[in-house]
Amino acid sequence: MTSLSLCDAWNQFLQFVKTHCSATAFGNWLAPINVIEYSSTSITLEVPNIFVQEYLLSNYKKDLAAFLPVNANGEPAVKFVIAAQSKAPVIHNSPAVVTESRKEDQDSWKAQQVKLNDNYSFETFIEGPTNQFVKSAAIGVANRPSHSYNPLFIHGGVGLGKTHLLHSIGHNIMQHHKKLRIQCITTEAFINDLVDNLRNKSVDRMKRFYRSDVDVLLIDDIQFLQNRLNFEEEFCNTFEALIHQNKQIVITSDKPPAQLKLSERIVARMEWGLVAHVGIPELETRVAIIQHKAQQKGLKISNEIAFFIAEHIYGNVRQLEGAINRLSAHSRLLNVDITQDLVETILREMLQTTPRQRISVEQIFKSVAAVFQVRISDLKSSGRTKEVALPRQVAMYLACKMIKESLQILASYFGRTHSTLLHACKSIEKKISADDMLRRQIGMIEKNIHA
Ligand code: ADP
Ligand code: MG
Repeated sequence: MTSLSLCDAWNQFLQFVKTHCSATAFGNWLAPINVIEYSSTSITLEVPNIFVQEYLLSNYKKDLAAFLPVNANGEPAVKFVIAAQSKAPVIHNSPAVVTESRKEDQDSWKAQQVKLNDNYSFETFIEGPTNQFVKSAAIGVANRPSHSYNPLFIHGGVGLGKTHLLHSIGHNIMQHHKKLRIQCITTEAFINDLVDNLRNKSVDRMKRFYRSDVDVLLIDDIQFLQNRLNFEEEFCNTFEALIHQNKQIVITSDKPPAQLKLSERIVARMEWGLVAHVGIPELETRVAIIQHKAQQKGLKISNEIAFFIAEHIYGNVRQLEGAINRLSAHSRLLNVDITQDLVETILREMLQTTPRQRISVEQIFKSVAAVFQVRISDLKSSGRTKEVALPRQVAMYLACKMIKESLQILASYFGRTHSTLLHACKSIEKKISADDMLRRQIGMIEKNIHA
């Protein structure tokens, strides 16, 4: 590859990425990169900070290797230079204006914050055997911040009340410990904040804010910190700084600490305090939640109907709420009472609108075969060649993921045992986390099937 074509290759790579990510992501992450040097065998890129470099490598390493030369290890032959180190400081034409706006910036600077949802309080959180423990842990923390459990780590499935409990803690502390400064933020907002501050060179202010202006940190959905290596480190530093000052931290997550793909250091820190699980509420609690939500909406629901709904919607409280909202809208618009017939119609609609289309194993075979360029009959055969082993495992993985059937039944489509299926699922899950290409291929197959 000549050096001229290498620069072209970089531009081609940019064009490729442009069609594979959002305009905002491109503007934030790719556009600020400059080529500062290239030879026939390598290219030097100037990045504004280490995060851009990390973003590029963690999302596009394979593509970089496809467009640019690779070294002996098969890694893209790219050198990185951080902007500030490579250049003398830029001299602005109008320094007065710049300092002025910097000052303004500084005065108005504030970390992003989530407004606490007024509906999320301990009073409105209905408890039952599966969430009693976590609720009392949350109340304990709210009553005696930094003196009961620190950190408190709340984990559980989607729509089971993690954010509700997190905000309840926030409200309670605000009411009873007026002097304490609370910062409630989602992990995504924390990362976005960090990126913005890096770009505006105000990251020290952000650090100062978290180290000295926060007494209680409530952080939602920590699972979004996975695979964000440098952010993870910054979060861990913030975390440790707060804990060492005996500041209260509460974290929510969709998995327990040990199952998060995060460094051992941070997992250990998160396990320091109390780890509490929010489970799926059992039937009686679901009925109580339905009654409570209906009452809040001024909707009259008989016990039989509450049971009927609770029996049909079970995995997720948010869906229960959705059902009540629909019933309430219907009864108000049509001015009718809630009858079993009405409930059945509405539930049927709801269950239809949830993405529960029937997907067949044949559809999966077809899409997997197309993407991996193998024959469907090979996927079903018992051949053990490497070329079909991976696609076959992918098909097994997708069958488990997309089709609600027992493992035994699914395994029969492949002429295998259910333990082979289970093994395939685990193996693919593991591979996906390390293999970008495979992740994209699987994404393509899924899209294909849904289409
Ligand atoms: P998560 O953060 O776990 O995904 P949320 O806290 O957002 O779930 O809860 C989803 C919805 O269900 C919210 O409107 C919340 O008020 C409600 N909810 C969840 N659990 C309960 C409960 N035990 N009692 C009352 N409402 C609940
Ligand atoms: Mg939540």
